[in-house]
Amino acid sequence: MMTDNDNFLMPKPESGFGNDRSNWKNYFHRRLRKNGDSSGRSSPSIHAKRRIVLLGATGSIGESTLQVIRAHSDRLELIGVAAGRQGDKLDAIAREFGVKETSLFCRDGLQGLERLACLPEADIVLVATTGTIALRPVLSAIAAGKDIALANKETLVVGGHLVMSAARASGSRVYPIDSEHNAIFQCLEGNPKRSSIKRLLLTASGGPFRETSLEALKNVTVEDALRHPNWSMGPKITVDSATMANKGLEMIEARWLFDVRPDQIDVVIHPQSIVHSMVEFCDDSIIAQLAPPSMTFAIQHILLYPERARGINETLDFTKVLSLEFRPPDEKKFPCLRLARESLDAGGFFPAAFSAANEVAVDEFLHRGLPFLAIPKVISHVLERTSFELPNNADDLIEAEAAVHTQAEIFLRQMKTLTA
Ligand code: MG
Repeated sequence: MMTDNDNFLMPKPESGFGNDRSNWKNYFHRRLRKNGDSSGRSSPSIHAKRRIVLLGATGSIGESTLQVIRAHSDRLELIGVAAGRQGDKLDAIAREFGVKETSLFCRDGLQGLERLACLPEADIVLVATTGTIALRPVLSAIAAGKDIALANKETLVVGGHLVMSAARASGSRVYPIDSEHNAIFQCLEGNPKRSSIKRLLLTASGGPFRETSLEALKNVTVEDALRHPNWSMGPKITVDSATMANKGLEMIEARWLFDVRPDQIDVVIHPQSIVHSMVEFCDDSIIAQLAPPSMTFAIQHILLYPERARGINETLDFTKVLSLEFRPPDEKKFPCLRLARESLDAGGFFPAAFSAANEVAVDEFLHRGLPFLAIPKVISHVLERTSFELPNNADDLIEAEAAVHTQAEIFLRQMKTLTA
């Protein structure tokens, strides 16, 4: 049970790297002692690198992660990489970074991911896979005492109760790489008391349809939905941004990462995607984190945490005019946001069902089998038939999630028959 003085994701003295984490030198010396380094090398610098396993190396987050590791190769070392299907790309990454341990999901299956997630030499496992595929590997990595850098939302949306309680038990830390949650994490540094938080304000760009009328949304195409104004991301998350389901998933993610009540999480539209999120404290002061819309900022923050080093992207230029706008979200135009909030409020299995139904609907939309505005209809249909009961182990949870997929697919077929 967390107490009010628990400082969220901050390193706990008794856990993981412990106090030594506040100081890289201490951390490395401690690790050398722990690893019983007998090489006789006088300088710890040869070993003084955080060893990273990257799951999902060939996607957009994977590429940004590789940029960060390349730029900070004096501190970071890639020791394992996994990808879904792109074997050639994975091999090229392994060659460039001298990585011996690789796994291709289409060849090695879940076992390959689990093996990499638990590599004995790994300090941190960066999870950038899609969907809930990484849930079991993440739980195994946590059980093995690894820290997790989480870029994937579904792992927490579906299995947040399992992941966070496992992390509390093992002392592993779950660090957020999603830009909004990373921003909140940064805003909370130095403000460790949970009771000092009034609310978390997740910013949302509003996606490509921010200015599109509800009427015009009826006819938007896959290409329209994939044209995000600020961020360059994979297709699933880009469509999720267009429906704002993404922000809904992030509200649920925030509830697990920061252990706040659902009513303490709000969404603010911020078209420029420069303020990545904010925390309002009990004294009404608001702290925000700003950076240009690139994932390298959040990835670097976590991989080097708690140290900071030179950034690798262009930063904000205050010698030029910079406007920041904020406005409330329109839940009528973006019902996915409302459905996510209702799922979060309801708790139990509802957030997982929301996520699974959304996954099926978005996949169908991307394959041109479903109009854009029907995505929330599929989610709504599933939620109306979902029961509260939340499985308390990964196998049952994944089975329940698969049942939601089937239910959503049946509904899709019914819809098609009706409109045929
Ligand atoms: Mg995000």
